[in-house]
Amino acid sequence: MTAKKIIVIGAGMGGLAAAIDLARQGYHVDVVERAADVGGKMRHVPVGTSLIDGGPTVFTMKWVFDGLFEDAGLVLEDHLTLLPATILARHAWTQGGDLDLYADREESAEAIREFAGPKDAEGYLAFCKRSAAIYETLRGPFIASQRPNPIELVARVGFNRLGAMWQTAPHQTMWRALGAYFRDPRLKQLFGRYATYCGSSPFAAPATLMLVSHVEQEGVWRVKGGMAKVAAALKALAISQGVHFHFQADVERIETRNRHVSSIMLKNGVAMSADAIVFNGDISALGRGLLGPDVVPAAKPVALPQRSQSAITWCARATTSGLALAHHTVLFSKDYKAEFEDVFTSQRPPQTPTIYICAQDRDDACLPPDGPERLLILMNAPATGDWEEYGPDAQSMAQESAWAMMASCGLALSVDQAQITTPHGFNALFPASGGALYGRANHGPMASFQRPGARSGVKGLYLAGGSAHPGPGIPMAALSGRLAAARLHADLLNA
Ligand SMILES: Cc1cc2nc3c(=O)[nH]c(=O)nc-3n(C[C@H](O)[C@H](O)[C@H](O)COP(=O)(O)OP(=O)(O)OC[C@H]3O[C@@H](n4cnc5c(N)ncnc54)[C@H](O)[C@@H]3O)c2cc1C
Repeated sequence: MTAKKIIVIGAGMGGLAAAIDLARQGYHVDVVERAADVGGKMRHVPVGTSLIDGGPTVFTMKWVFDGLFEDAGLVLEDHLTLLPATILARHAWTQGGDLDLYADREESAEAIREFAGPKDAEGYLAFCKRSAAIYETLRGPFIASQRPNPIELVARVGFNRLGAMWQTAPHQTMWRALGAYFRDPRLKQLFGRYATYCGSSPFAAPATLMLVSHVEQEGVWRVKGGMAKVAAALKALAISQGVHFHFQADVERIETRNRHVSSIMLKNGVAMSADAIVFNGDISALGRGLLGPDVVPAAKPVALPQRSQSAITWCARATTSGLALAHHTVLFSKDYKAEFEDVFTSQRPPQTPTIYICAQDRDDACLPPDGPERLLILMNAPATGDWEEYGPDAQSMAQESAWAMMASCGLALSVDQAQITTPHGFNALFPASGGALYGRANHGPMASFQRPGARSGVKGLYLAGGSAHPGPGIPMAALSGRLAAARLHADLLNA
């Protein structure tokens, strides 16, 4: 019997994971990707003679990638060198104070004791317990499973565990919940920032997202050679399973026959037939008609007010002085709420932004290299990239506020060369997203159930990636690819 033909559109984390699982199960898998190579948001930006990680920099939930390799009979560490971080991140505030958070919980508690006093150190340990409990409750029944509705979730967790379900606190905002653990507003800010890992505001996101803190506590790794090595390792794994890659292959249209997907048409006029398709682009592209009229019913586009944050990033070669950077450093302003009001209500870049810096040449010793170092500098921004383009004035205004924030935290920067990416740039790279980097924002108690699951509204078309269940982030997007592959496989078996 000839193998069924599956096309995976997009070679981001979700597309790669889906392709690997499907090929391993004997399907004929073609991955079509509009860019020149794999990775999607996990991209290397050339700046002068350097390649700088311009997308994800925090590698967590290693078990997801262990599973992907193990199921193919391989070992992740034979294909990727991962270095566990002892310092999770360094934090500094404009109003003063700096604090390192460590992989070792007791070391963090001690640092918090010195920073904010014993009450907050106790609060931190209680917070760790709570975020671990939320994660443990949701990991199996929600994160690693097909998208449930709220009743199904309660059933999966167990009707005898309603207390644990209640503790996940979808009804409470993260900001409010953090008040029970921390008196020092700077600590609320530090732990509230975990909501932005899903592109959301801690003032609107459910307290459930406190689990992200536990995810980091379980381990953060640096990747030898840079994050692009993760995508390269998945590409090699995919090829070893028999996946065929087609790059600079931009899909213009997905076509259906008898309401079931049947083929794709590339912008260069090439047609390819398929028994089923996995779409790894932003789900809004389907609903907005970017993939043709046949698949508009596949997924509802995310409207601007519901979009997650975008960002303005600078990939820079620079020399720094003053505040010593760690591999990951976060600089906070005094008024955290104002930042999210700017982004989500006024839809403008924040005037006093939080700045995240990944100093990619530094390890746990935090030492800079000789000469200029490679930095990713990121500030949050609204996902308005499909209707506004920041001109030179807007770009230099954003840069002024970012650089002023760094200066107010004691960090001076002398930039050799830099490459800026704005929400407009992200929208061009990831069509129909508006530049939103994490799909729909997790705002309100029901937000997690509003991302589409693996099965789309069109037969034979499946969804994988950060804008689908279980959500954004490199391990989560990879999980969504695995879930799409599992759903597709089960549907074909039952057809
Ligand atoms: C600046 C930044 C920082 C981040 N930081 C972190 C971090 O530290 N840690 C973390 O875990 N996550 C982080 N993330 C989020 C993480 O990168 C994403 O959630 C994840 O990589 C998304 O994977 P995906 O499967 O959704 O695919 P994507 O990366 O979105 O890739 C989708 C692919 O589909 C292709 N495609 C789309 N339409 C078509 C078409 N019509 N034809 C052909 N190809 C198409 C695109 O070219 C793209 O390659 C960050 C993201 C960004 C941008």
